[in-house]
Amino acid sequence: MSNVSHSFSSKIRISYDHKKLESFPENHVRFYLKYSSFVFKALGKCSFQKFLSWMLRKESIEADTVKGVDVRVLPLRRGNGKTIAGKCDPAQGRIWIYPKTVNFCRIFKRKFGRETLLHYAGSRARAALIHELLHLKYIDDEQKVRELCQDYFGLFRRKQIGKTTFAQSICAMIFKAKSTEDKGSAEGKNSNTLESG
Ligand SMILES: [Zn+2]
Repeated sequence: MSNVSHSFSSKIRISYDHKKLESFPENHVRFYLKYSSFVFKALGKCSFQKFLSWMLRKESIEADTVKGVDVRVLPLRRGNGKTIAGKCDPAQGRIWIYPKTVNFCRIFKRKFGRETLLHYAGSRARAALIHELLHLKYIDDEQKVRELCQDYFGLFRRKQIGKTTFAQSICAMIFKAKSTEDKGSAEGKNSNTLESG
């Protein structure tokens, strides 16, 4: 079991486009690098890795199907300007996880505080990874993926911190954004995207 977890977390890496990153102001670069390393740690955490291994087994998704998970440093926007939480290419078994923007995080932090922001960012990335992993099996079935993702994520959360109001409000923030988002608006043919902001 620990082997399985280990092999999965070794597929996660931080990646970015050097040129694009250089075009950002220095304080934004610092912010995004910090954000991505935080997400990288949140996704690699042992308890979450174990949970994912269990979920993949339960869904009969071979661990080998997952070729790589990229934690992208810079956010990705769709045509409508909203940011994307995750993307996957089921044919290649590749997954990309994206951050929220500097501006979003600033406003969020002012409203809810730093702790809540960190909590939100970690939870959002984990939910995105669960969502995209499920797409490896339910490729075009966005509805099914969303339902299952909410169930699995809720299960993980309850195990972690219990059914606190805080946990529930974070869940609501993540899944409310998703359900109001347009359905199946994939970026390109083979990719599936999650969430908005
Ligand atoms: Zn999706």
